[in-house]
Amino acid sequence: MQRDIYEEDHEAFREVVKEFLRRYATPEKAQQWDADGEIDRATMLAAGEQGIIGLSVPEEFGGAGMLQDYRFRAVVNEEVIGSGNGSLAGAFGIQDDLAVPYLVHMGTQAQKEKWLPRMATGEILGALAMTDPGAGSDLRGVTTNAKKVEGGYILNGAKTFISSGKTADIVVTFVKTGEGNRPDAFSLLIVESGMEGFDHGKKLSKMGFHGWDTAELSFTDVFIPEENLIGGKEGMGFIQLMMNLPLERLSIGVAAAAASEAGLKWTLEYTSNREAFGQPVADFQNTRFKLADMATTVDVLWAYVDRAMDLYRQGKLSADEAAKVKFWSTEREWEILDQGVQLHGGYGYITEYPIARAFLDARVHRIYGGTNEVMREIVARAVTGRK
Ligand SMILES: Cc1cc2nc3c(=O)[nH]c(=O)nc-3n(C[C@H](O)[C@H](O)[C@H](O)COP(=O)(O)OP(=O)(O)OC[C@H]3O[C@@H](n4cnc5c(N)ncnc54)[C@H](O)[C@@H]3O)c2cc1C
Repeated sequence: MQRDIYEEDHEAFREVVKEFLRRYATPEKAQQWDADGEIDRATMLAAGEQGIIGLSVPEEFGGAGMLQDYRFRAVVNEEVIGSGNGSLAGAFGIQDDLAVPYLVHMGTQAQKEKWLPRMATGEILGALAMTDPGAGSDLRGVTTNAKKVEGGYILNGAKTFISSGKTADIVVTFVKTGEGNRPDAFSLLIVESGMEGFDHGKKLSKMGFHGWDTAELSFTDVFIPEENLIGGKEGMGFIQLMMNLPLERLSIGVAAAAASEAGLKWTLEYTSNREAFGQPVADFQNTRFKLADMATTVDVLWAYVDRAMDLYRQGKLSADEAAKVKFWSTEREWEILDQGVQLHGGYGYITEYPIARAFLDARVHRIYGGTNEVMREIVARAVTGRK
């Protein structure tokens, strides 16, 4: 089904992204990222130079100033995922959807001036560390804590599963700064690479997203100057997280729809070329019906995700609407990619094939950004009006 969400500028930008991928995301490069478990800095710098990351950084801080128009970010996600480079898409997403927004929307003027220009160029990469080893869904259970001292804070604790955590230069870190677990007991601090007592820890070995680093971080008596308290106000961390989570969940929805569309495309190509019993696999009635189901689901996915993007642009995407988009789209993605693997036969299980890699990458979409169970809780609370 034809989508009508994009305008001429978005399509022109799509060509820029495609050209970037042709030049910088070659199959050799992708293999290297997988082998290294991270995206190399030169690629991130090139993305900064071409204006593919840092999209929401305001022009006065050297960015593209596309804060109000998420469609440009969606174009990046579609093209990068469609090219089979899920890890690269993930690394771009962390910078633009998880790190930059905390500074753009909630940072002080001094914080914006200090970090945003070099985040737009890719010289400074960010990460967002919410999850403690002992608390993920239940964020108010985190024990990583910062004690107020003269001129700043002393930070102790650990974070785990942090995407881009090894390569990040700054980490927006969710910490306890007060007593108990009331929302105002938490703050967001910027921890900088190289600070004494901050260890990027080890890279975790994952099922998918092999070219994108995920790390355990540890903090031992790290002194954080008070200028690194996001927004300059203590006790705002929980509210600040809640403000950005709809964007994070929308971006996972876009990624899920993009991966579903790509999965359909790869499966169409493969089944048209592969023969069994003297005919293309695409000509078996079972395959035809499955492809018809997949194509229809992709259409419905985009219709839903595009509508959510529209609402986000108007500042109207609520937390529960974003939660619906996140859980529903990632579950359809899972079904479509699973079907795609099946229709590829044995080759669908071989990671040389993009369908296999996309399937492995997709599994975490139902877990991170808030698990799909937690998403259903948020939606249930909204629809029933009961806690
Ligand atoms: C590859 C990867 C990348 C990640 N990137 C980041 C990152 O960049 N930054 C970051 O901060 N975190 C990141 N995470 C962490 C991720 O957000 C958490 O893993 C997720 O929120 C779940 O938390 P948990 O692992 O502690 O699971 P738990 O909270 O222990 O959940 C275990 C199970 O219990 C269920 N459950 C929990 N509470 C409820 C409830 N109220 N009702 C019903 N079921 C419930 C869950 O759905 C799940 O099935 C990442 C994780 C992975 C795997």
